[in-house]
Amino acid sequence: MAGIYIHIPFCSKRCTYCDFYTEVAPDLIPDLVKHLVKEINIRKDYLKNETISTIYFGGGTPSILSREQFSEILDGIFAVYTVEENAEITFEANPDDLTVDFFDSIKYLPFNRISIGIQSFDDNDLKRINRRHTADQAIKAVKNAQNAGFDNISIDLIYGLPLQSIEDWEKQLDIALSLNIQHVSAYGLTYEEGTALWKQREKGLVKPIIDETMNEMYLLLVKKMKEKGFEAYEISNFALDGFRSKHNSSYWKQNSYLGIGPSAHSYDLVSRQWNVASIKAYIAALENNTPYFEKEELTLYDRYNDYVMVSLRTSDGLDFDFLSSEFGQNLASYFLDNIRIYIENNSVIQSDGKYSLTPQGIMISNQILIQLIKV
Ligand code: SF4
Repeated sequence: MAGIYIHIPFCSKRCTYCDFYTEVAPDLIPDLVKHLVKEINIRKDYLKNETISTIYFGGGTPSILSREQFSEILDGIFAVYTVEENAEITFEANPDDLTVDFFDSIKYLPFNRISIGIQSFDDNDLKRINRRHTADQAIKAVKNAQNAGFDNISIDLIYGLPLQSIEDWEKQLDIALSLNIQHVSAYGLTYEEGTALWKQREKGLVKPIIDETMNEMYLLLVKKMKEKGFEAYEISNFALDGFRSKHNSSYWKQNSYLGIGPSAHSYDLVSRQWNVASIKAYIAALENNTPYFEKEELTLYDRYNDYVMVSLRTSDGLDFDFLSSEFGQNLASYFLDNIRIYIENNSVIQSDGKYSLTPQGIMISNQILIQLIKV
């Protein structure tokens, strides 16, 4: 069981908070698509004949691609990999791309899940963070997806946006939860160095929401999601029964994955590698058969740290038997010695050998993880 991630690094304009690698360079799309297929072929043995259970087009803005371009990439994958019959095949989309015509054009493609980057249903918020769509377009996008037959729809939301109050955030959640969607990913706004938002904060043009309010917003999110039957299966991810993201869950369960495209990361259980974060450098390297990625072999501590950091954030939790057998008794004892205090103060819950963060623990997750990782 393995996954394939395809990075489509194009955006028609940049949101102020975003630090993903993307470019505003539509002229490069056809050439990039050709080279994505080339990389898929070059790396056909990376997953060592594992069956593919998830394919995920992320970005950037995959919905910028035409039907023919999606087909070219999907055909490339299906030609060299064995893809499960019921594989989860997702694409991320910007609301303003999701018109009736768009869905009409992709209706024969094998997508069965869509992840829509909405972020907010408030036009003032959207303008402040330089999103290219409106609240109306976001609601229409969801409806168009449903009318086109999508019954596995995820939306992304951000809380803690500049000037947002708890009441504003509650309104966002109410709108989201009225849309009959199956999955929500909700992230607290962060100020990443180098982004436009970070520069605005440095100049005093925006003021971050204080931690106490961010925590209250998070608790409100968890409460409202629960009331509507959504399971918090990871700190930032909420799903109705049967609608967890298989692709993301696979990352969290330490399955291997292949990342295709500029800046995409790959993991094969023993090493990580990441492609160059430049469309032009990526294309040139593939043309000249020169390296287009960097690679690091993972040490025992790297793998232990990854497992602890990721699994504690999920409701399935960290499996102590797996941790002991995979990383050995020394690291298992180290984990037990350091987690005890957080169980005592209700930040971590332990049941049947599984450990996970409680809502209080989520508020101090960085502090907990620093204690548990091994350097
Ligand atoms: S559309 Fe997505 S990837 Fe592009 S700049 Fe905005 S948040 Fe980043």
